[in-house]
Amino acid sequence: MVRSPVGKVTPQDAAAPPLPSAAILPGAVLGVMGGGQLGAMFAMAAKRMGYRVEAISDSEDCPAAHHADRVHVGAFDDARKLEQIAGSLDAITFEFENVPVEAARAMQQAVPVRPAPDVLFTTQDRAREKAFLTDHGFACAPHRVVRSRDELHAAVAALGLPAVLKTAAFGYDGKGQRKLEAAADVDPAWASLGPGDCVLEGWIDFDCEISVVAARGLDGATAVYEPSRNAHRHHILDVSSAPAGLPPAVTDSARAIAARILEKLGVVGVACVEFFVTRDGRVLVNEIAPRPHNSGHLTIEACETSQFEQQVRAVCGLPLGSTRQHAAAAMANLLGDCWANGEPDWPAALAVPGVSLLLYGKSDPRPGRKMGHLTALAPTVEEAIANVTRARDLACRRA
Ligand code: AMP
Repeated sequence: MVRSPVGKVTPQDAAAPPLPSAAILPGAVLGVMGGGQLGAMFAMAAKRMGYRVEAISDSEDCPAAHHADRVHVGAFDDARKLEQIAGSLDAITFEFENVPVEAARAMQQAVPVRPAPDVLFTTQDRAREKAFLTDHGFACAPHRVVRSRDELHAAVAALGLPAVLKTAAFGYDGKGQRKLEAAADVDPAWASLGPGDCVLEGWIDFDCEISVVAARGLDGATAVYEPSRNAHRHHILDVSSAPAGLPPAVTDSARAIAARILEKLGVVGVACVEFFVTRDGRVLVNEIAPRPHNSGHLTIEACETSQFEQQVRAVCGLPLGSTRQHAAAAMANLLGDCWANGEPDWPAALAVPGVSLLLYGKSDPRPGRKMGHLTALAPTVEEAIANVTRARDLACRRA
């Protein structure tokens, strides 16, 4: 089957050699599983390129609804309904990794799902992800999978303290994690995170955290962005900046590992690999997100191709775009806390040189909820960080 310029499927001439890639062209209908801000920014990029976008979300009033042509509500556990929706789409991608694998597999019967459901299967469970990393020789924190309190005690004896216990599934932004500092922390940690599968990781006394967004096309080509340096507050990403200011050997190593991970996983799409950089310059993989990432939002303003346009290109079998970064950049998240003193002072923030604003269209600014972000471009990364944090302080009336 090949896809015509309007995205419809037409039978391929039996005598013709198979096409290396069947590009899904503008005019086609792209589905995105999930309706959050990553889905909204995917929809913005896809709409700009002439695609129709349909989001599948558990809420009608989701960020993607402001940009997609249509939202299908509340269908993740209904395989028949999903297959039916898939029948009207030309390709499907996702914006969060906790899409049920069975749902993704059901949709794959009707339409290409990219990245493939097998990628979701590996990356949505920390135990499977760690096994993938170890099997392929990618360095990560020392760890043990634990399924009971006794196994946790044995793992603590093997890895020592401090350590961090993480649920295997459904963890994000530090949720589903406990740091264990002393023997007395072990039983309470299991009481709060057990009895499901968990992973105990040895504590890494890292120099910094970085992440690398990369894309892999249908033809196997990869395109890798500059690493972002990530600073967290209360376990939530606070500021990302690029370039990360690391020695070239560290940067090259992180980028090469990210590309190899996408190859070994067989990703067609965009993924982000998060790393710890140790004080002796080693890069250890922390986790993999098989989708665009919060730390890659600065690619919208700072790079020739944003991570969201790259997702469209990869998912549609188009050539990947250049990842070249044309200015130093920093991104600061805007959490609901910023609304504590009333509507933020956007004119003050936007008066700071090189600053742009992206709001996700969420109506309820709860503390800790990601409502939007600011990005600053500047001649140096230090200036970009200073400007974006000043702009945020002004917006949130903390200046
Ligand atoms: P994660 O959800 O695995 O990305 O963990 C959230 C944050 O907790 C990370 O960004 C680190 O700041 C911290 N963290 C997680 N695992 C470890 C570890 N093994 N050693 C040190 N810090 C960690």
